[in-house]
Amino acid sequence: MAKYYVNNTAQSNGDHEVHEDGCYWLTLVVSKKDLGFHTNCKSAVTEAKKTYNKSNGCIHCSKECHTS
Ligand SMILES: [Zn+2]
Repeated sequence: MAKYYVNNTAQSNGDHEVHEDGCYWLTLVVSKKDLGFHTNCKSAVTEAKKTYNKSNGCIHCSKECHTS
């Protein structure tokens, strides 16, 4: 289980990126929402979509959940 967060600030394309705790890019996020613990990024993205319809896995830490 890993802890996941979603960026409260959208990317330029409107996506809110979902990061696993410990991701370097997470340290650059100004404001994030705690998504709790998840076994994989897929359920974390599902959780994030309850808040942000356009949520997407981070290409670095959650690549298998990243869609372009
Ligand atoms: Zn990340």
